[in-house]
Amino acid sequence: MIEIQNISKSFRTDEVETLALRDVSLKVDDGEFVAVMGPSGCGKSTLLNILGLLDNPTAGNYLLDGKEVGSLKERDRTMLRKGKIGFVFQNFNLIDELTIEENVELPLHYLGVKASERKKRVKEVLERMAISHRAKHFPQQLSGGQQQRAAIARAVVANPGLILADEPTGNLDSKNGEEVMRLLTELNREGTTIVMVTHSQHDASYTHRVINLFDGKIVENTQL
Ligand code: ADP
Repeated sequence: MIEIQNISKSFRTDEVETLALRDVSLKVDDGEFVAVMGPSGCGKSTLLNILGLLDNPTAGNYLLDGKEVGSLKERDRTMLRKGKIGFVFQNFNLIDELTIEENVELPLHYLGVKASERKKRVKEVLERMAISHRAKHFPQQLSGGQQQRAAIARAVVANPGLILADEPTGNLDSKNGEEVMRLLTELNREGTTIVMVTHSQHDASYTHRVINLFDGKIVENTQL
């Protein structure tokens, strides 16, 4: 379970301080699918980065599965998120110099999974994402939809309990967007908790709950 309590986050650049999150509290239960919406600059990505242990809050607590993780050092945050949290981004974030199968294998490398098991898991997840025929290709040789399916494969290959998705359909046409939402919904039905930033009401309609942020605060929390 994810629970943040009275989180604030400020950024200081030169003499200017931006308060990106103001006193935000939120609980996400295991198995929930939650959408985070709101206008550009309202703090959605900052919230997702904190939930994903990519950044620390300036104030407040973050309990991940009951353990306080909001003030961990970067090294400890990195250790903790490996295997526990999968990320899916709008721009796919695949490594151009690696093939699709090498990209998908990376989280298993980081976890020290042995080679034979890595190959087996990568093969399974590429089949599931219907991109096995592209395993030896490089990201730039794939369509956007295929790249995002590869990114989802990479996000789930280590069986994380939590997926954080930042506008996962933002760079896709509607057909590929639908496919990505179908895959995320299927993973959620199998028990994966998902928090997804989106601008799309349609994508939000796949979730259980919509959180609306405005100017760094939660202004609406609607169960669907
Ligand atoms: P959203 O994802 O809703 O568009 P963000 O979370 O990216 O919003 O940003 C919230 C606010 O924090 C914005 O005013 C943005 O300019 C600021 N911000 C985000 N990241 C940084 C950073 N690394 N340094 C300075 N300001 C930042």
